[in-house]
Amino acid sequence: MDHFNYKDGILHAEDVPLTRIAEAVGTPVYVYSTATLTRHFKLFQQALDWTQHLVCFAVKANSNIAVLKVLADLGAGMDIVSAGEYARAKAAGVPGERIVFSGVGKTGDEMRMVLEGGIRQFNVESEPELELLSQIASSMGVEAPIAIRVNPDVDAKTHEKIATGKSENKFGIPIARAREVYARAARLPGIQVVGVDMHIGSQLTDLDPFRQAYAKMADLTRALRDDGHDIRRLDMGGGLGIPYRRDNNAPPLPIEFGQVVRETVGDLGCEIEIEPGRNIAGNAGILLSSVIYLKEGEGRDFLILDAAMNDLVRPAMYGAHHDIVPVIEPSVGAAVSAFDVVGPVCETGDTFDKGVQLSALAPGGLVAFRSAGAYGAVMASEYNSRPLVPEVLVQGDQFAVIRARPSLEEMLARDSIPEWL
Ligand SMILES: *Cc1c(COP(=O)(O)O)cnc(C)c1O
Repeated sequence: MDHFNYKDGILHAEDVPLTRIAEAVGTPVYVYSTATLTRHFKLFQQALDWTQHLVCFAVKANSNIAVLKVLADLGAGMDIVSAGEYARAKAAGVPGERIVFSGVGKTGDEMRMVLEGGIRQFNVESEPELELLSQIASSMGVEAPIAIRVNPDVDAKTHEKIATGKSENKFGIPIARAREVYARAARLPGIQVVGVDMHIGSQLTDLDPFRQAYAKMADLTRALRDDGHDIRRLDMGGGLGIPYRRDNNAPPLPIEFGQVVRETVGDLGCEIEIEPGRNIAGNAGILLSSVIYLKEGEGRDFLILDAAMNDLVRPAMYGAHHDIVPVIEPSVGAAVSAFDVVGPVCETGDTFDKGVQLSALAPGGLVAFRSAGAYGAVMASEYNSRPLVPEVLVQGDQFAVIRARPSLEEMLARDSIPEWL
């Protein structure tokens, strides 16, 4: 469920007509709904209300500081993967004790920075990382709280580029080696073992892979406790999928995901952490775009938009689908025709979808890409020297620009010509 609906024939974000945002800010622009972000975060809170828990938003899904603040004010923790994301979480008011640090390539500088600024836990992904963290923490005279990310070798049944829980993926430590690595961690100075971590992939639409992975986590937790480790937290990762097509079978709900967690690890008495990204932000955002041209091709017609693959790369990168809808609601019975919807970038991959049924749209007409709030703006670039796409946040009948579109001057000012040239 989201808060992008037609009212009086115009698609709104909450109580704001998208036409008003397009007029004020121009297009392309991302628009986020505070109400949807809030609703989805609370669904995860409720799904775990049977135990002590922390819902850590995966910052990589949408890292705008205003978006993070909406969630931080509701008590969210944050799952970060870089110094930059740590700085963003802090800027949004999230205390260090609510921030977990994931990622396969944490650098020594990043470790030092978060140990100084405060961190809840490192999700350690390899033995070399464990050693470096031990050296750095002991040199600072502190203990780094850690969970080890364990790779359960479970097929998440999602797109291969976003599956992370198979043995051939770069993530985590093979579950068969986990006890050995925990034993090593327990002996290292500057390291305090607090839990176990898993994240098996993104956009999962089936609960079975979670169930299999978490059952393995429960067995491992018992074995580690037998080995004498104080396992008090379990980080179950993120990955619950969202409906990208309105007409499709909906993926499981957060409450059902919470039940799987309860059934598999609920009896262990651990504090539960989860790291949803897409499920909180995905349907809380749309990408608003204008039609530049309607172009008749041979046997197919093109709708050429002012949004492109540099603004929303998921279709080009993963073959992902986003529903594309007109902002002005077509009248009942209006004629529709099929368009290939493309952007202006000079690559054939700059195609959002083919054969999309849309009714009469003229140049200047507005369309919205639904479900674009996660892995949208964060993956945007300035390819083709198109200034970075701006972002707007809506709450009720108010809206504000939360990242402005850079002017051409600002974009150019980041380059410099060496004096010897
Ligand atoms: C990407 C990622 C997430 C979030 O995944 P979603 O599919 O957006 O919920 C959580 N944890 C880790 C470690 C990740 O890499």
